[in-house]
Amino acid sequence: MELNFYMPTKVIMGKDCIRRNESLLKEMGRKAMIVTGASSARSNGSLADLEETLDSAGITYVIFDRVRSNPTTGSVYEGAELAKKQQVDFIIGIGGGSPMDAAKAIALLAVQEVTEDELFAGKYRREALPIILVPTTAGTGSEVTPYSILTNDKAQTKTSISSPVLFPRIAFLDAAYMKELPVITTINTALDALSHAIEGMLSVRATRLTDQISQESIRIISGCLKELIDWKESRKGNELSLTTREKLLYGSMLAGIVISHTGTTAVHSMGYSLTYFKNVDHGRANALILPAFIEFAAKGDAVTVQNILKAMNLDSIAEMDSLFRRLLGDRERLSEEEIAQFADIAIRAKNILNSRIAPTREDLVLLYRQSR
Ligand code: NAP
Ligand code: FE
Repeated sequence: MELNFYMPTKVIMGKDCIRRNESLLKEMGRKAMIVTGASSARSNGSLADLEETLDSAGITYVIFDRVRSNPTTGSVYEGAELAKKQQVDFIIGIGGGSPMDAAKAIALLAVQEVTEDELFAGKYRREALPIILVPTTAGTGSEVTPYSILTNDKAQTKTSISSPVLFPRIAFLDAAYMKELPVITTINTALDALSHAIEGMLSVRATRLTDQISQESIRIISGCLKELIDWKESRKGNELSLTTREKLLYGSMLAGIVISHTGTTAVHSMGYSLTYFKNVDHGRANALILPAFIEFAAKGDAVTVQNILKAMNLDSIAEMDSLFRRLLGDRERLSEEEIAQFADIAIRAKNILNSRIAPTREDLVLLYRQSR
């Protein structure tokens, strides 16, 4: 048996985990840059906890709060300029996948001169400032991956930059920060995490160990889906318990460990066009495609698909499809012209060949048609 498993991030989960680990922050340096989105880090209490802990540790900091969903290269170069000017020792990203991914790119660009073309071509040194991440959505798993996914306008898609130096040193997981996360974002991010765990099992790089972690993640996240549907359909305020929030956060972290080793597959490659051209949330974009892709994959790898369904506690792909239809509601319209354009872009993505049952361009067209 061959195995190559590397996960250098210290994962600390639990109530008040930032405040309880001041000593770990002290080891990182004397000055930090905090990277966040527009406002959620301020309103969910995570930024205040971090600021208090840094103050108490005698660490000074600057805040860069200009990251928006699906981070642009413009924003990360701007952040890196500030990090250089302020001579910070380390970077702390708080938020969903967007600020966390931006924090990673900023950490890399703060220590080397790299053009945008070089960045997307993977032409950079294995060097970055130390990174700490605090996820406030339960979806991307970015807190334990070596990836930063940025909007690539030249290629009209989203492109992943990847390096072992982008693994965070520490990930602090406190589900209390997700208390006010709206129902739609909670669903979309949970489905992103579920997609990571499932795609991991369908990847050419899957191993016995990643399959075990995937199945645990799939079981945990799938066990929360009924509650998410009830919450969505009741149209009431926040009804998700902290226990369920913790399960989602734990399950998405596990799925992040999976994709750190397996990468994602055709599902993510196809989803990027839905986000880039139609502004569909990342997790939703994957979830729109996933049931159709599972059906496609079952033709070549029925055993793995059976194991995925078993972990989801479902009997058939049809059951999965109807579950996803309730979670996703009305679907986006896709014209034949759009489908042809998206298939042309997706077929060039490297993650297509990362799928054990790899689709052709014609397959991609059929999969997009089934997903609308
Ligand atoms: P996001 O774009 O980071 O955030 C979505 C929205 O949720 C933002 O409006 C944000 O507001 C808000 N939000 C975040 N936390 C909140 C909280 N606790 N309470 C209330 N609102 C909150 O969404 P995401 O789905 O987490 O991340 C998606 C990005 O991650 C995509 O760019 C995707 O490509 C990437 N991704 C990365 C990896 C990886 O391995 N690196 C894997 C999968 C996906 P604010 O702007 O105010 O913060
Ligand atoms: Fe994802």
